[in-house]
Amino acid sequence: MSQDYNDWSLATRAIRVGHERTHEKEHGEPIFPTSSFTFDSAAEAAACFAGEIPGNIYSRFTNPTVRIFEQRLAAMEGGESCVATASGMAAILATVIGLLKSGDHIVSSRSIFGTTTVLFEKYLTRFGITTTFVSQADIGGWERGIRPNTRMLFVETPSNPLTELVDIEMLSNLAKAYDCLLVVDNCFCTPALQQPLALGADLVIHSATKYLDGQGRCIGGAVVGDAKLVGEEVYGVLRTAGPSLSPFNAWVFLKGLETLDLRMQAHSYNATELAKWLEDCPAIQQVYFPGLKSHPQHLLAIKQQSGPGGIVSFTVKGGQKAAWKMMDSTKMLSITANLGDTKTTVTHPATTTHARLSPEQRSEAGISDGLVRIAVGLEDIEDIKSDLERGLALL
Ligand SMILES: *Cc1c(COP(=O)(O)O)cnc(C)c1O
Repeated sequence: MSQDYNDWSLATRAIRVGHERTHEKEHGEPIFPTSSFTFDSAAEAAACFAGEIPGNIYSRFTNPTVRIFEQRLAAMEGGESCVATASGMAAILATVIGLLKSGDHIVSSRSIFGTTTVLFEKYLTRFGITTTFVSQADIGGWERGIRPNTRMLFVETPSNPLTELVDIEMLSNLAKAYDCLLVVDNCFCTPALQQPLALGADLVIHSATKYLDGQGRCIGGAVVGDAKLVGEEVYGVLRTAGPSLSPFNAWVFLKGLETLDLRMQAHSYNATELAKWLEDCPAIQQVYFPGLKSHPQHLLAIKQQSGPGGIVSFTVKGGQKAAWKMMDSTKMLSITANLGDTKTTVTHPATTTHARLSPEQRSEAGISDGLVRIAVGLEDIEDIKSDLERGLALL
């Protein structure tokens, strides 16, 4: 990287890191839609393939636009190395394949993204990697879950959809004591609100699909960490197995990163206003939001996050029927599973994102039938409230 960005704050890194202008002196980051790269001679090709000289070979391995995104996100998370992937799930898969082997064991929070649970339980077990699921916030439970063959602790904080936190510093001390890697899926906070590596995590996972894009356009992901774990091991899986990020998607995410800091502040503001308003609403049983004083981990949120984030979940009185009635009464909010968009989205986790879990697993994870998740967007907060009020007034 030509710039020395160490003195720059996050907002500046998000706009400036990674782009080395080509001979065309372009101002914006260029997109390189090319599958392969050329060499001046057969000898140069041979040296490049042998790893004796640096250089692009093939876009499954490296691509200049993808590299700008990787360098910029690494700088924002405070990591040495970043590998971009075709999706958030591909980031998790590449991390697990790259760093674990048959016979290894994972201890994971029970409150992780539903598809990640399916990946661990249904698919990894086929290859001899097993997982024990524990309660997110109970550090003692994490320790009891660790076995002699445990190699990885996996967590999302705040969790989806119940916004449960874990103390990353405490969990990283536990991971170090048992010689495990701590992997944090930083999807909900993004580096704008939380930097897990500085708190002791070994790897950060992203679904770039969410807030990094920020406008619901592309699927992508990333893994951030040190040069050995990510730059060699996870990268090795990427170039061999192939879930690489397309240069076009990388360019969209670059534009997303440039406004990330501002957007996360605005999402946090709108979500705080909405959560406070919902808490006073008679049709609502409970509101889950780390920015509320009533959140059991509110003080931890203040300690390890620089803002509460944009996800607000709540249970309505009256179960699934009431939840669906409220959702169906909205006219502006989007009924969709995505989150991290400028458009406010509303989801019923029990019948969508978490429908593949058994009723027992759902109840263990606290996903009740009356639970609704709002990913608060950037529309005027009064319009968001009015759209929800229509349905809530009917309950
Ligand atoms: C969406 C999501 C993922 C998976 O990302 P994709 O880009 O959809 O593959 C992983 N973790 C969390 C917390 C998510 O919200």
